[in-house]
Amino acid sequence: MSYQYLKDRSHYEEMYDRFTVEWCRRFEEPRPVSDEELEASKELSLSQIQWCHDLSTDFLLFQEAGNRWLRREETIREWIERDERRDQMIERAQVPLVRCPSCGKEMECIYTDVRSDIDSDREWLEFFLCCKPCKQGKDVYENGSEVPRKPVLCEKCSREVETDIKKKDGKRYYIETCKHCGHVEETLSTIDEKKKEPTQEEIARFEYDKKRFCLTNQQGQRYRVWQEQMKRLDDEEKVQEANAEFYDKLAEVKKINIAGLEKLLKPALKKVGYADLRFTMSPPAQQIILNFSVRDTEEKREDYDSRKMLEKTIEKILEDKNWALTSEGVSYRLGMLDGRIRGYESEEDLQQLTKSRMKKKGKHVKLKKSRDYASMFPEDVVL
Ligand SMILES: [Zn+2]
Ligand SMILES: [Zn+2]
Repeated sequence: MSYQYLKDRSHYEEMYDRFTVEWCRRFEEPRPVSDEELEASKELSLSQIQWCHDLSTDFLLFQEAGNRWLRREETIREWIERDERRDQMIERAQVPLVRCPSCGKEMECIYTDVRSDIDSDREWLEFFLCCKPCKQGKDVYENGSEVPRKPVLCEKCSREVETDIKKKDGKRYYIETCKHCGHVEETLSTIDEKKKEPTQEEIARFEYDKKRFCLTNQQGQRYRVWQEQMKRLDDEEKVQEANAEFYDKLAEVKKINIAGLEKLLKPALKKVGYADLRFTMSPPAQQIILNFSVRDTEEKREDYDSRKMLEKTIEKILEDKNWALTSEGVSYRLGMLDGRIRGYESEEDLQQLTKSRMKKKGKHVKLKKSRDYASMFPEDVVL
């Protein structure tokens, strides 16, 4: 199998590193201090603001370079796989049989190429066929249908031009000639443009930047450890915040008895159209459970709306009390609603109730001894 796409691994490594250098250089481009920044930090002098700038640029670069290293292996592997796949596509390609429009003989395949669409990840084959004696050429897909050709239009008169390729000093130029107005356009091939040799100064600057931005494996591993620790630190901080909130919430829980509960619920439910609140008690057990029923006085309110309104009202009243609706919610039949409310008595019960209330809001409480954060920073996290 011959390789049209696949190249040595070093080719991909160099390409990745070149992108990394170009990417990181952009962060170092000088950026003037804006008026907004001056306004926002009145107590700082211009040089102090500039210093903050430089500091944040250094930190940003440290992360950008580190993240480029983290993605390096995977990206190179993807590039290699993509080129292997393209070579296989060409290897397996069946050249379509297309006849020359002039002599009717089978056209010869000069070149096979894989085309792709970045937006859709789609890849397909295109063949360039020709009939040399008749000077006929055609671009076709694998099924033999012709690739639609976009006409090149004249810059001056917008009519179709004739295109040609000319070689000059070993470089390729595209020549566009307009037969209508006589305008001629000459452009250097982009491939040849890229081939332009870099100067000694550019090479030296590239090598210098590569050392700064392309991390060695050892530096990269250190960055990985640092990043994981920062993530852990961030998570722990969130848990710490949730824990602090937990103790505040726990202290806020008001302990009331059944009489107090009834006194709170009755008027609040009446206000939103529910009457005849009745409690019945389950036989005494480990948990204190009250069964309740209530009547919806609004004729137009249907099942779902009625249930949701009742649940919302009860939950709002009980949100800082030692009682809570049980998880199954309330049920509805022809305007009669019933459900269960659980009472929380012991300190342990109240802790559990507070935790589950916070969990509903996406805050996870993990009660444990806090750690010494300072000891988690590695000492040598410089680029
Ligand atoms: Zn022919
Ligand atoms: Zn023209």
